[in-house]
Amino acid sequence: MTPIMQEPARTRLIPEMTKLLFPVLCLAISVGCSESANSVGEQPESYASAADLETFCDRLPRAAYANYQKHEASDDWFEVYEVEPDVFAIYEPFQWQEVISYLIVGSESAVLFDTGNGIGDIKAVVDRLTDRSVRVINSHSHFDHVGGNYQFEDILSVSTVFARDRAKGMRSDELLMEVSPEALCKGLPEGVRREDHQTRPYAISKKLVDGNVLDIGGRKLQVIRLPGHSDDSIALLDRDAGLLWSGDSFYEGPIWLFFPETDLAAYRESVAKLALLAPELKAVFPAHNTPGADPALLVKLHDNLDRVLSGKVDPMPVSDGNVEFRFEDFSFLMREDYNRLPVE
Ligand SMILES: [Zn+2]
Repeated sequence: MTPIMQEPARTRLIPEMTKLLFPVLCLAISVGCSESANSVGEQPESYASAADLETFCDRLPRAAYANYQKHEASDDWFEVYEVEPDVFAIYEPFQWQEVISYLIVGSESAVLFDTGNGIGDIKAVVDRLTDRSVRVINSHSHFDHVGGNYQFEDILSVSTVFARDRAKGMRSDELLMEVSPEALCKGLPEGVRREDHQTRPYAISKKLVDGNVLDIGGRKLQVIRLPGHSDDSIALLDRDAGLLWSGDSFYEGPIWLFFPETDLAAYRESVAKLALLAPELKAVFPAHNTPGADPALLVKLHDNLDRVLSGKVDPMPVSDGNVEFRFEDFSFLMREDYNRLPVE
């Protein structure tokens, strides 16, 4: 069940793509941006090369998906895989983020853990999978996970200043790169225009805190707070089944820890929590790239982060003040001044 990670597309694209994304983040967050970042609307200094983009698309499908059968609820944009009984990975393979949202169906209700980019119609996919009432739970509020929130009534989220700010939405000019030809392996869904893509506002209907348990009938989902990648990050834990949905705190690929809202000291504590959970887990379902990761990787995550933060791993410069620390199954992408953070 542990897919050996091929060199992930996002790794190869990172140097150029972070350069493209960076102005978006600067505009959205308005802090912590270097003067060298391009302003939105300006042609970036360097787009990913044609060769890189060719490689990105050629790497699909990822080998891990051979473990699963594509579900008939799939459409032109979303691929759906039943990764456990009544657990559906809703994957966006043709957009460079390769986001995975998860529908978890209980005997009484269902939870949709993230709603993706908001490029395709995720509500239509969910409606094909269940007729039970659906509550959306945000793994965190980054734009690639809350894009479809506007299609749902019930949005459960941690409520930090950052989360409430992102709930106001993001404009199309802030997200242009995400729907550029360079970021896509196929055309946008019918009727979707690049200039119209945005993250529409949504209202948080219930505030989540650590330890909240949602009983969906035959399955209980516990909220585990994991600040670090962002201050509103959570995981969901089904303790009885040994399943963990890790959001962006862990996935097989370059883990983005360069945001102004990233807190490495908090991430270190969150990752320690994950490593402690690992022995009781059967599978981990991350929010990017591949579902069904080996829980033992959470221990490696913890060990390798400690090695990085104690200066035992040499960073590789990538772009615009970012460095990457590569390991076999994942990597950390951080600001080059990471070691100035208050971590021993
Ligand atoms: Zn994120």
